[in-house]
Amino acid sequence: MFEKILVANRGEIALRVIRACREMGIRSVAVHSTADADAMHVRMADESVCIGPNPSSQSYLSIASVISACEITGAQAIHPGYGFLSENANFVQALEDHGITFIGPTAEHIRIMGDKITAKETAKNLGIPVVPGSDGGVPDTAAAKKTAKEIGYPVIIKATAGGGGRGMKVARDESELEIAFRTARSEAKAAFGNDEVYMEKYLQKPRHIEIQVFGDGKGNAVHLGERDCSLQRRHQKVFEEAPGPVITPEQRAEIGGICANAVAKINYIGAGTIEFLYEDGEFYFIEMNTRLQVEHPVTEAIFGVDLVREQIRVAEGYPLSFTQDDLVVNGHAIEVRINAERLPNFSPCPGKITQYHAPGGLGVRMDSALYDGYSIPPYYDSLIGKLIVHGRDRPEALARLKRALSELIVDGIDTTIPLFHGLLQEDDILTGNYSIHWLEKWLAREF
Ligand code: ADP
Repeated sequence: MFEKILVANRGEIALRVIRACREMGIRSVAVHSTADADAMHVRMADESVCIGPNPSSQSYLSIASVISACEITGAQAIHPGYGFLSENANFVQALEDHGITFIGPTAEHIRIMGDKITAKETAKNLGIPVVPGSDGGVPDTAAAKKTAKEIGYPVIIKATAGGGGRGMKVARDESELEIAFRTARSEAKAAFGNDEVYMEKYLQKPRHIEIQVFGDGKGNAVHLGERDCSLQRRHQKVFEEAPGPVITPEQRAEIGGICANAVAKINYIGAGTIEFLYEDGEFYFIEMNTRLQVEHPVTEAIFGVDLVREQIRVAEGYPLSFTQDDLVVNGHAIEVRINAERLPNFSPCPGKITQYHAPGGLGVRMDSALYDGYSIPPYYDSLIGKLIVHGRDRPEALARLKRALSELIVDGIDTTIPLFHGLLQEDDILTGNYSIHWLEKWLAREF
């Protein structure tokens, strides 16, 4: 059993992990930058260590500082949350070398899912359906034209090292291909320092459906159904729900089974998410995230499990505390992301919170590190809270979301709360009739 865990993150996800530790009787260590000295995660943890100045490159992303904090405090394990070092294979390797347990998969698992071409190849070999596309990287425009002819237009050109929706360009026909190819390459070079790109068939109206998987590292794995995260702006999710409004129990069992078998085969340990585009009844793999996702609470709500507790337990060497048969969908859950952003451009809006009031009541969970008088620093992600609701069915979850949003107060800054008031007026949202393009079209019309 771990006695002390260091949480290498900030904001709501650091609180989420500290809460699980406390319930398990494990002491927690917070790390923070100078800007975050007054942050809630520092107040809530049992101990805290300042690991560097404001920029995350010198604090939350500094492998040496995080490892020193671990050694100084005697923490036996590190929970990385999401973002920052959570999918950094070099970090995990360094921890393995220092005898510190990483609460997550091995460096090798992170590597095979880290670069997108290798991930797609691995997925294919494990029996997971993938989007038709190029065999690996596409070196030049001549090769791009040849591939596009084979898979058929429209096509999407994507960065091998991509992430956060950057370095992607669509070409609807051959006349658009050359410029799309060159732009994708230069964007990839600028954003990731690697200009390798690959190509896929561009799906016209897909939904984003992702499967939560969990492995014990000893060849056993389960799936915890899907989340529908199709409501996106610039490939960033804003509204997530589970179960997916258009996925049947049979489809869930089938694609979930394929994913669970795949991760079992590689002895995967901990939480993972296999992301798909879904169109006309077919699933197409796009990537795997080898960490806890922002939207994990909707899965926790419908299955009644604590995914962070489970991550800690399997890292301690215990078997999974549930079997596939134990995991039965109960009701419907929705999460909305509250960002410190100003509409209509979603420009970051840090600043001082003059009043904060979290909603409550049956089926309502607010994960946030805000408090009255807190000043949101300008250096980090704009996510400041997640409102999660759970109901017996989708209509009840929607009604509960509307009610909870009406209680939520975040004064002093602009947030994305008005966006959700607007969305809940829309028939397509109420009926679940949306694809990955719905939100951008609606925003262009409404704002
Ligand atoms: P990133 O890691 O940058 O988020 P992903 O591969 O996960 O990149 O893709 C992000 C989003 O881009 C998807 O959720 C989807 O909206 C869009 N997308 C990616 N590949 C395709 C494709 N082949 N066809 C249509 N849309 C796509």
